[in-house]
Amino acid sequence: MAVQQRKTPAQADIKAESKLDAQVGKTWGRDRDVSFGTILISLGILVMSPIWVMYTYISCNAYQCAMSAPALEIYNSPDAFAAIQTLLLREVPRFSPYATRLFFTWLALQAALYAFLPAQIGYGQRTPAGHILPYKVNGLLAWFISHSIYAAGGIYFGWWKLSIIHDNWGGLLVAANMYGYFLTFFCFIKAYTFPSHPADRKFSGSFIYDLLMGIEFNPRLGKLFDFKLFHNGRPGIVAWTMINLSFAAAQYEKIGYVTNSMILLNMLHATYVLDFFYNEDWYLRTIDIAHDHFGFYLAWGDSVWLPWLYTLQSHYLVRNPVDLTPIQFAFVFTVGYIGYFIFRSVNHQKDIVRSTNGECMIWGKPAKVIRTSFVTSDGKTHKSLLLCSGYWGLSRHFNYVGDLLISLAMCMTCGTQHLLPYFYIIYMAILLLHRIQRDHTRCKGKYGKYWDEYMKAVPYKLIPYVY
Ligand code: NDP
Repeated sequence: MAVQQRKTPAQADIKAESKLDAQVGKTWGRDRDVSFGTILISLGILVMSPIWVMYTYISCNAYQCAMSAPALEIYNSPDAFAAIQTLLLREVPRFSPYATRLFFTWLALQAALYAFLPAQIGYGQRTPAGHILPYKVNGLLAWFISHSIYAAGGIYFGWWKLSIIHDNWGGLLVAANMYGYFLTFFCFIKAYTFPSHPADRKFSGSFIYDLLMGIEFNPRLGKLFDFKLFHNGRPGIVAWTMINLSFAAAQYEKIGYVTNSMILLNMLHATYVLDFFYNEDWYLRTIDIAHDHFGFYLAWGDSVWLPWLYTLQSHYLVRNPVDLTPIQFAFVFTVGYIGYFIFRSVNHQKDIVRSTNGECMIWGKPAKVIRTSFVTSDGKTHKSLLLCSGYWGLSRHFNYVGDLLISLAMCMTCGTQHLLPYFYIIYMAILLLHRIQRDHTRCKGKYGKYWDEYMKAVPYKLIPYVY
């Protein structure tokens, strides 16, 4: 498809942008000034996230996904320090040349598909420095090609077992960490030495906060290889469904059949992932792309946290097969797909109202909108709108209600014996509640009095009459 080029400040040269950055003061967008408390929390996240991933790996690999088991072993041992040492020496995954090759081949494949497959060009939101960036949107095709290669190689050509990901899980974890850390530091240095859009960088003055939350907003190689879209979408989200399939194959090898819980889990995850790629253009206007900068949070998070922790339920089901009764199956299915319906319809309403400039029907009536304006750091004023009817009149983040219901259903496929498979819903609840606050700060900074007007029109944040 022909690339439709808009004249935006994205085309300004780097020198001009640096000058601009030096001239302007604070703009809306991610915080620049961070408190000592925020820095401490950031340090905690940097240290604890890898430890937590390793802990869940050990729980599953050595203790059948019993979350408390490693901690209890340490607690019950007379010498806790020695117990930790023994546990780590025994259970921490080792570097594996084969798994490392596998991981980097996968990464190279995803990069090649992203760079060379035919793509539509989508546009993101205007950034605080005034850019509207073009993005390559070809994730759905990349997903189909990746899964076809995986299935053909495993079933038809016999190049690998379908359980290959499950079988190399420890070595893949090591390789993904190597890449996640490399990417974090590479992007940190890139932000100082050859930034893609200097005027959109944010320096907090804290090395720790900048490392965690990133400095560059949209780091790129060339004009179109966007680090954020690539790493958020692929390799992590493409891998999500493939990891589940591989763990389903491992379950089949282990017990001779695939449980209905594993099938339902694969269905729910596949629905979520395919929806993501089908609506990849929509994703360009979500907070991930429109607000977050690219640091450890996304670089390591997309490489390690997402593929490892979002798939925990399938790790659990391999070790603890669950056969749902027909009623349980129907219940979980219903919760999941009601959640999906809400999630998709709410997000669709926002997209449609923005793309028609408010000239559309919402729930059979003309959309009610608040017309807003905001200023970018180049001093220009732009117009936007906030929908306040339909789902967006019920609460300011009703899309999160849908997401939480699907997330809960994914966890419920694992029954109620253990807490570990419920990590995902606990994490999503914390993430989304925190996001509501972050989004409020961002939108208040961006829209000012218009945001106040919107809050008056739609007073609830998440659940009408509750919160
Ligand atoms: P939204 O898609 O709700 O985006 C929020 C942004 O939309 C705001 O910053 C504002 O941006 C704009 N906006 C806010 N209110 C309105 C309104 N009334 N009318 C029009 N535009 C409005 O949130 P997220 O990006 O957080 O989430 C997108 C989806 O992704 C959600 O469904 C969420 O559940 C899901 N998600 C999933 C995650 C996962 O890990 N599985 C993680 C995070 C999100 P502006 O005005 O600048 O355009």
